[in-house]
Amino acid sequence: MAHTPTSSGGPLLHGPSDPEHDPTASYALEPGYVDALTKRIVSTSGETAEVHSPLNGQPLAHIPQSSDADVAEAFARARVAQEAWARTPLDERAAALLRLHDLILDRQSEIIDLIVWESGKARKHAFDEPMHVALTARYYARNARKHLHTRRHVGVVPVLTRVEVNRLPKGVVGIISPWNYPFTMALCDGLPALLAGNAVVAKPDQQSMLSALLGVELLAEAGFPQDLWQVVAGPGRRIGPQLVGSSDYVCFTGSTATGKVIARGCADRLIGCSLELGGKNPILILRDADLEKAAEGAVRACFSNAGQLCVSTERMFVADQIYDRFMERFVARTQSMSLGASMDWGVDMGTLISQAQLDGVTAHVDEAVAKGARVLAGGRARPDLAPYFFEPTILEGVNPEMACFADETFGPVVSVYRFHDETEAVARANEGQYGLNAAVYSKDGARARALAAQIKCGTVNINEAFGATFASIDSPMGGMRDSGLGRRQGTDGIYRYTEPQSVATQRAIRFAPMFGMSDEHYSKVMTANLRIMKKLGRA
Ligand code: NAD
Repeated sequence: MAHTPTSSGGPLLHGPSDPEHDPTASYALEPGYVDALTKRIVSTSGETAEVHSPLNGQPLAHIPQSSDADVAEAFARARVAQEAWARTPLDERAAALLRLHDLILDRQSEIIDLIVWESGKARKHAFDEPMHVALTARYYARNARKHLHTRRHVGVVPVLTRVEVNRLPKGVVGIISPWNYPFTMALCDGLPALLAGNAVVAKPDQQSMLSALLGVELLAEAGFPQDLWQVVAGPGRRIGPQLVGSSDYVCFTGSTATGKVIARGCADRLIGCSLELGGKNPILILRDADLEKAAEGAVRACFSNAGQLCVSTERMFVADQIYDRFMERFVARTQSMSLGASMDWGVDMGTLISQAQLDGVTAHVDEAVAKGARVLAGGRARPDLAPYFFEPTILEGVNPEMACFADETFGPVVSVYRFHDETEAVARANEGQYGLNAAVYSKDGARARALAAQIKCGTVNINEAFGATFASIDSPMGGMRDSGLGRRQGTDGIYRYTEPQSVATQRAIRFAPMFGMSDEHYSKVMTANLRIMKKLGRA
């Protein structure tokens, strides 16, 4: 394990005083840097909450807390900013997104440093975050007109009814995000909201607040108006109701349990929401899979970000015919992963983010082992690496008596099962209430795609873990069943923040009897019209 100073070499962060492999060395952020970020939180309460770095458990920052009055103030400011922003030409809004894209790439090292300090994830997993936000910014900027320009639709009377559909902004969007992807989750859902002419009031998770605030600073540098993106802080249970109660739309990412609370709050107000929730994601290794590629992909599928990833694999179904050969490779690759809590490249898996996460993961593994599951790799906490570290773990013999059979672990733990035929594998993959992401490994793309259509998940990756769908921003991403409602990315990801408005201009005729026609005669003419239109092939 390496404990070294920040890799960015930038002036904003400084590393441990003794970088010589001292696990207790104290990471710290420049106080001025933290102050500059946290002053963006709308907070007058005088209260703060201390957060710790999972790299070493040492205090990282004191996050100012928002009261209900602060949340109300954030919405008031956002509403004023939104009115002017909605009148800003679409091309100008898109240009700000492209500037954000460049800024993120330029400041990548600083962003990644902060993510690692806050989350303890491996640097290569932190790298995914600025990449994903930059991809999202470019995609929506370049497709702004396609998604948002007023569009002609077919009118009821050919030529005489001209119909246009406008996409109007909803107003102020509330965004509640979790800690697992501090930069991505805080920003990516808000970018299409801004492009569509909305303002945002965001409530990132406490543990990932600094990365989220750095994102807000970059938005301002990119030229978005200062008040357009407000940030509030505090426990979700405390300020969540006020936030949901003031929003025109809510975008929530987090657990299924909290998602249901949010959905109820939105239902009471008749506002829309999108919910990106948990998963118990399956991977299917078919008998004709390339075993090396499948084993390599399976490691990424199960252990990226220490499994604290909504689309992470926790259930693996392997064809009988190749089970032993595949497992030999998968276990060997898992056991050779380089583990550590470090700012540097070269680590395959970092630490869990908190004591609560460690407790949950440990409880799942210990219970499964006590009830007869076998540990093929990992299985232990590693406090010698970092306070909340848990090894990448492969379990065999997991059954429905064990919590980790169906409940989301949200950690680096996968249960492996054999299957005999593919129909059975699909049926088992579809068990349970979740339906977020799946992966299939096979050399036969057509057969794998046919199986994918039978899997009840919002995304299915063939010969890849999760990145192929997640990084393809033009396609929708989200969950079926208890994994969510609505979709991020693509057209769905921006339309959710708009109100479609149909404007029809009628010429020459009216929708009532004309030329002295009786109502009865009119009804006959209209009925005949419908028959003719069908014969003419009109939609
Ligand atoms: P969580 O539901 O506890 O918290 C998520 C966010 O909601 C936090 O900001 C929290 O402060 C806030 N919150 C909590 N209670 C609230 C309430 N009553 N009202 C308003 N806000 C409230 O989830 P978590 O444990 O922090 O995150 C992990 C979960 O998120 C996992 O289940 C994971 O699968 C899921 N997740 C899903 C996706 C996805 O895209 N589908 C992405 C990341 C994480």
